[in-house]
Amino acid sequence: METLFLVSSLVIFISLLLYFIPRFCVPELEPPPLKRCRACHALTVEPAVIDYTLQILKGGKLKWYTIKNLKIPICRDCGAKSFTIDVDNQIEAECLRQRTQNVK
Ligand SMILES: [Zn+2]
Repeated sequence: METLFLVSSLVIFISLLLYFIPRFCVPELEPPPLKRCRACHALTVEPAVIDYTLQILKGGKLKWYTIKNLKIPICRDCGAKSFTIDVDNQIEAECLRQRTQNVK
């Protein structure tokens, strides 16, 4: 009777080990969680790459700029764009590059 108890507890112990060891050793390879949309409040904002056209008032004149391959988070439900600091920096750098090219 005692041996049966020992064997069964050993089996339980080993099965618990086999269950928990992979969870500690293998890093989780899940994609980063989606962010919440500020317009529709759904968890559907994901990174995207688009061509973005905007107008900037410069020296009393409106000028068109096209930013190619702009990396911007977009809601896949309502299409709202999230203008983060990183997006602003990309737009600013590209507009500056286009202005300096046009001057030359
Ligand atoms: Zn949305």
